[in-house]
Amino acid sequence: VRAWGPLLGSVRRAVRERPGATAVIDETGPCDYADLHGRSMALARALHAAGIGAEHVVAVLCRNHRGPVEAMLACARIGARVLLLNTGFAGPQLADVVRRERAVALVHDDEFEPVLAEVAPAVARFATSGFDELIGSAPDHEPPRPARPGGVVLLTSGTTGTPKGAHREVRSAFAAVDFLDRVPLRSGEVTVIAAPVFHGIGFAHLVLAMGLGSAVILTRGFDASRTIALAARHRATALMLVPTMLRRILDLGPLELESHDLSALRVVLSSGADLPAPLAAEATRRFGDVVHDLYGSTEVAVATVATPDDLREAPGTVGRPPRTCRVRVYDEHGRRITEPGAVGRVFVGSALRFSGYSGGGGKEIIDGLVSTGDLGHFDRRGRLFVDGREDDMIVSGGENVYPAEVENLLATHYQVRESAVVGVPDEEFGQRLRAFVVPVPGARVDPEGLKLFVRDRLARHKVPREVVLTTALPRNETGKVLRRRLR
Ligand code: ATP
Repeated sequence: VRAWGPLLGSVRRAVRERPGATAVIDETGPCDYADLHGRSMALARALHAAGIGAEHVVAVLCRNHRGPVEAMLACARIGARVLLLNTGFAGPQLADVVRRERAVALVHDDEFEPVLAEVAPAVARFATSGFDELIGSAPDHEPPRPARPGGVVLLTSGTTGTPKGAHREVRSAFAAVDFLDRVPLRSGEVTVIAAPVFHGIGFAHLVLAMGLGSAVILTRGFDASRTIALAARHRATALMLVPTMLRRILDLGPLELESHDLSALRVVLSSGADLPAPLAAEATRRFGDVVHDLYGSTEVAVATVATPDDLREAPGTVGRPPRTCRVRVYDEHGRRITEPGAVGRVFVGSALRFSGYSGGGGKEIIDGLVSTGDLGHFDRRGRLFVDGREDDMIVSGGENVYPAEVENLLATHYQVRESAVVGVPDEEFGQRLRAFVVPVPGARVDPEGLKLFVRDRLARHKVPREVVLTTALPRNETGKVLRRRLR
């Protein structure tokens, strides 16, 4: 749980200092900070009148638009905790998480009505489409000030299993600003948040943007053309997305991209999943020296940021930690590795102190640093490289293979658009490598030729024994490849 009085505090400060400044732009148009605050406080009164109060959990199942922002602010006012649900969840999964987190109410968009069938009827429902009515008929009676600010339960992506509810304590007053020494964001940005706000990444961007008194542009679903058109129309200065979104924007092609004036863009921030070096380079050619890569997780928030300089000097790096954060790699016996190039398990000590998952369980902690579950190494200049997840490492014939190494090589092949390498059971070697390869459009890839390509460049045990051609890789909302499904 992250105490997030700061979000409400930020909006209040914006109302005092710049009440007429635009807060959110969505498909219904712009609204200013005073308007957003006024509506949210009325919603707080309505929710309170409906019996929701401090310490209650309110689940939110919404796409990116003004509604969930109003709901979050209203919950902060009454001291309720917000559980942000993934819009991709199937009915049973949704019902499970709502039950596990003991939500008493659910705020949702109309489109999710069908998946709510299995959610317990005792959970009060509030459709965002009914907010105008709720706000219009809200009582005047002010809810009591909560003793503690509400919090938020962020769910992990569920890349490795069931999504976990990450509970966190705040050490610094406003942890989202932690990485501002690595990303040149200033107050009053015009920020497009394309990443889903229900995910830790999108949520962090929202908190940060509102903390800066920025105008936040939200769209219900991601559409590359629309995102770019909106960014141009509002002269966006910052674009927050996940790597697959960046890929789709670049795939629009030069004609469409050049028809928009994106010269106001100062920061393009990719996060949530691996940003392949060729993609970062292509984005830099298109948008200039504005591309940043943020590495982090639901549990630790920000771990490192790669600046445009880092990405140019050390392609593939995720950069360095912000000042307030420590990142180290340890070996399997818990000994710290300091030697450049040596791969170890990545641990992070951030301003947010992770305090375990709802329902128990946690992550390994060494020297006060939390395990990310990733493997990585530093270069001589202290820049981190993520070599993949510990769980994804393939052991073939007793040799360790990091899928990322093989995938990064395959990405340099002119016929390969993207690939994912997984280990499948093998009687002789324990595991063997199977590569799923998405060819560039129109290319006629020869699987044997690809194997030779790898054989010429990497050790034998890193050569995929099987190459499976496919049209797309299964990914989640943050763009992570679902290796479980591939396996
Ligand atoms: P679960 O814990 O449920 O399996 P998850 O780990 O995918 O889900 P998240 O907290 O959403 O949950 O993702 C964090 C992980 O995403 C990191 O540990 C890392 O593996 C990956 N990741 C995030 N950002 C980056 C990045 N910029 N570069 C490389 N990997 C990244």
